[in-house]
Amino acid sequence: MKALVVEKPYTASVKEVPYPKPGADEVTIKVENIGICGTDIHIFQGEFLSPYPIIPGHEFSGTIYEVGENVQDFEIGERVTADPSLFCGHCEFCLTNRGNQCENWGAIGNTVDGSMAEYVKVPSGNVVTIPDAMSFGEAAFIEPMACVVHGMNRLNLQVGNKVILFGAGAMGQQLIQSIKMAGASELVVVDLSQDKLDMAFEWGATKGVLSENIQSELRDYSNGFDVVIDATGIPKVIEQAFQYMGKTATYLQFGVTPKEATVPLDTFKLYNDDWTILGTMAINHTFLPAFEWVKNGRIDLKHIISKEISLEETIDFLKGPRNPDDLKVQIKL
Ligand SMILES: [Zn+2]
Ligand SMILES: [Zn+2]
Repeated sequence: MKALVVEKPYTASVKEVPYPKPGADEVTIKVENIGICGTDIHIFQGEFLSPYPIIPGHEFSGTIYEVGENVQDFEIGERVTADPSLFCGHCEFCLTNRGNQCENWGAIGNTVDGSMAEYVKVPSGNVVTIPDAMSFGEAAFIEPMACVVHGMNRLNLQVGNKVILFGAGAMGQQLIQSIKMAGASELVVVDLSQDKLDMAFEWGATKGVLSENIQSELRDYSNGFDVVIDATGIPKVIEQAFQYMGKTATYLQFGVTPKEATVPLDTFKLYNDDWTILGTMAINHTFLPAFEWVKNGRIDLKHIISKEISLEETIDFLKGPRNPDDLKVQIKL
């Protein structure tokens, strides 16, 4: 079969590789759509703990092509998507419902071969059947949505909270709809792109602010916000975000920062203003709720997919430069 293989950092090609025959408890999926994520770019650049060579791709949809001998829940041709998480199930964290912190954490397309290929094999327990009304593009978008659901669960937003979100990219756009639905009274979104802010406003932000105008535009918010979220992962932005923490505010780090990044923290305010600081890592049994959210039309993902490219075009996409106005880019097989 044809697959995109990252041989080693900065070296990738589309080539013939062996077909992934499913094990007894696995299914092999014929892939339709694959979302490209920041993690895939990190894998290409050698900034992720992946073994090489590896086939990336952890956001995907397709149809069941072959089932392992123990698998009874799926039929050939069924339309599906899958949670890429591979939790060991027996470490301290797995046994206490914190599988995303698993000591032996793995994920399809991150630590084992993924979906940037004609076929991918997946444990059958990770697979979810999708309705006919859900496109393969939307289905391949459930995985990032599952990360948003985990983040929202961590945040435990209260009805009426005033929220500021930094970053209106693909993840930011999903957060916007989720924050609106969770009952925020105000949602201010900050980004470099007016187009992305316009989209944010259309889908749930109450105010969009261009980064360059932040000082003047937020003059009326001297009491700060109840919730501050970073979805950029940029240390300079995070430093700025902390200036908007109100009393008893909660901060959520959603964006992935460079590994060695640090930012200064006003520890007196942390103490005196009763701050809460949270992180959120990937998916923790949140794939199914994300799927239900999308299936029932509570969240729209279609408008966040900005283009589809081929497997071959993906090599140049990984190398960059990329268009900063792109939201989610998917590969169509
Ligand atoms: Zn991803
Ligand atoms: Zn574990």
